[in-house]
Amino acid sequence: MKNRFNNNPPLLYGMVGGGLTSQIGDSHRVALNRDNYYKLVAGAFDIDWERGRQYGKSLGLQSDRVYENYIEMARKESSREDKLNVVGIMTPNNTHYTIAKKFIEEGFNVILEKPITTNSNDAHNLIKLAKKRNVLCSSMYGYSGYPMVRQAKAMVLAGQLGEIRVIQTEFAHGNCATAAEEHSDGAAWRNDPKTSGDSFVLADVGTHALHLATFITGQQVLEVSADRQSFVKGRVLEDNAHVLLRFEKGASGFLWASGVAVGHRHGLAIRVFGSEGSIEWCQEKPNQLKFSILGQTTRILELDSPELHPPAKRLLRVGAGHPEGYFEAFSNIYSDFAEVLLAKLNGEAPDPLCLDLPTLEDGAKGVEFLEACVKSSKKNGKWVKTTLIDQ
Ligand code: NAD
Repeated sequence: MKNRFNNNPPLLYGMVGGGLTSQIGDSHRVALNRDNYYKLVAGAFDIDWERGRQYGKSLGLQSDRVYENYIEMARKESSREDKLNVVGIMTPNNTHYTIAKKFIEEGFNVILEKPITTNSNDAHNLIKLAKKRNVLCSSMYGYSGYPMVRQAKAMVLAGQLGEIRVIQTEFAHGNCATAAEEHSDGAAWRNDPKTSGDSFVLADVGTHALHLATFITGQQVLEVSADRQSFVKGRVLEDNAHVLLRFEKGASGFLWASGVAVGHRHGLAIRVFGSEGSIEWCQEKPNQLKFSILGQTTRILELDSPELHPPAKRLLRVGAGHPEGYFEAFSNIYSDFAEVLLAKLNGEAPDPLCLDLPTLEDGAKGVEFLEACVKSSKKNGKWVKTTLIDQ
């Protein structure tokens, strides 16, 4: 990654949500600061105005750019000469659509957390609106920023695995094996259909596992057969789900999303099996990619392996062996977004290697997947097509 702007970041950035108590706000702040593309200058950080105001102050922001809510922020920022170039939205799921719609309508470029909306109609409306307003938007599937995930994608694309047959993907952790919602705001809104949408773990972590599978293999999911369970007493939404997947080019797959996988710390992993080889990647050991070729000894690729393809090689930030990880992956997405946006603003073609950004369309696929899973599980696992919007 280049750091070509030194202390003069070219893009002004504002944040909605991500306040002092939030889980993901810090990851975005670290990501936007790392490569000097962005300067955080504005925000409506918190549902609690006083806490948000104090937080903006603690970040050193000008007081007139710390806003009570996103509506005030959109109105005042759009009339400034030095208005924001990018708005990041990281609030609970049910608010994504209205907040993103407002900023896109006002012509802002947007980085939106997943799941991008709670229904596919809203997701497709955002796509249409973004096209109409000619703004750049990305959905924050941060795990696709890992070098070894980009390597896996490049290997599939180069045919190193042969024809893809089986895709197994999982995001199964044990953090909600007890009633976490009783003592955590983040777990509480995730378990409430009014704020989370119609699913808990499938929306919260399953969409990451889905995106990883489709990103690496280049295949979308056509149909699902889903079985959802709520193991912890009192939960309305699922805290565990097993989903069978049928992919568009014929691969067969399986997705496991869980919050009750006791002993699993983070729990994101993927295995892809082709006619000539396979790969396996796990987020807890992100700089290794297990690679097997039929009839040969299994190898572990590392960040300095000569076999690395350019999309992975370019993301190495320090010498191999240093533990690079989660924050760097987030930063890679932010920096690619900046490169694509700057090219657009300058009327230039973007570096093709920056175009692996997760898009709003990827976000919409996640939402369609959730709808299909809910529908399927209500019908006792009946196969349901994911492209509900076209039916
Ligand atoms: P959280 O509950 O920890 O934090 C939410 C933040 O948003 C809080 O600061 C809250 O005060 C603020 N907020 C709520 N409503 C608001 C509003 N209307 N205007 C302004 N601020 C508001 O939640 P979280 O865990 O940070 O998750 C936020 C979003 O990020 C969710 O959609 C979640 O799915 C997503 N997320 C993504 C990842 C990832 O890896 N990409 C990881 C965690 C969370």
